[in-house]
Amino acid sequence: MPIVNDTTEIIIVAGSNVDRDRCMPEAIRRLRRHGDIVVRSVSSCYESASVGGPEGAPDFWNTAILAETDLDPETLRSELHAIEDELGRERTDDPNAPRTIDLDIAYYGDLAKEFDDWAIPDPNTETQAHVAVPVAEIAPRWVHPVTGRTTADIANAVASLNPEVFPHMAVRLQTPYTTRAIDTDAVDGAYAPRLEDLVREQLVEIGEDPEREGLVRTPLRVAKAMDFLTSGYTTSLEDVVNDAIFDAEGASEMVVVRDVEYYSMCEHHMLPFFGKATVAYLPKGKIIGLSKIARIVDVYARRLQVQERLTNQVADAMTEILDPHGVGVVVEGKHLCMMMRGVQKQESNMVTSAMRGTFQSDGRTRSEFLELAR
Ligand code: ZN
Repeated sequence: MPIVNDTTEIIIVAGSNVDRDRCMPEAIRRLRRHGDIVVRSVSSCYESASVGGPEGAPDFWNTAILAETDLDPETLRSELHAIEDELGRERTDDPNAPRTIDLDIAYYGDLAKEFDDWAIPDPNTETQAHVAVPVAEIAPRWVHPVTGRTTADIANAVASLNPEVFPHMAVRLQTPYTTRAIDTDAVDGAYAPRLEDLVREQLVEIGEDPEREGLVRTPLRVAKAMDFLTSGYTTSLEDVVNDAIFDAEGASEMVVVRDVEYYSMCEHHMLPFFGKATVAYLPKGKIIGLSKIARIVDVYARRLQVQERLTNQVADAMTEILDPHGVGVVVEGKHLCMMMRGVQKQESNMVTSAMRGTFQSDGRTRSEFLELAR
């Protein structure tokens, strides 16, 4: 979310009655992606009859969007027109013609100003239920700069003035992107407020409603899962190895630990890759408890990784703590970023290896290891 200085709170109203289930969410998505507009809140989507349009014109969807911007009113208006154009809006002389999307500035801070052929606040804010009702939903205490009435009062008055229009407004739709503001106050004392906020924003960005029942606790769960899955960043090799290194003067046979299960996340897509590692070394006076090898793999697996680096880091760690004659590591992994996205499926099972010391310099040691690792 861009940091915006000297911003003005604004309310934009959106209407669509052509291809509306595509155009309404897409218009809101484009507002959310706009570099100079920070969307704070989007109302429910209301369905209403076309006012003054041609006979048999399809019903509209209407929403109101609370946002902040550092654009002046004219520039903001032309940016909204650009989004309308991108969504295939055809401009005609008929102000009530069917349209893919209509984006108007309802309010711009407390500005009251007449332009050539438009005005702020939009005159419809005080006369049209399809504008007044969505606006009152997201900003009920917003004060009309000319009349001094709140948007909640205006919505009530307009509703009672338009008994023939208002029944249509009873249809409230929840569609993607019509979600409430992210309520940062609500996360005080949360497990990881900033991370949870970001997850909540991510849900909004993909068109989900973070307030719906199944998702309310998701930011917390994701934060806890991420902490566990990236705990390798804060785990030191020394802590893991502790005092599990033993002197073993006579030991000279290759030690092989096969099929160490690991779970990691690729740093390119933050999607899991997982599989098994085989770790071997040729001792030079020191050996390590076998269970510790799995923990060493975890230190490097539980962070954002690429499989090649994971393999090398395990080999280097073994070299560092044991100073052996040599180390060999073979890692095989299935990468969900390839498997789930349906590309390069044939390469989804990847094998990487790293050799140190005699595993690198001595062909017989390497062959023996690769035989055992198979
Ligand atoms: Zn990936």
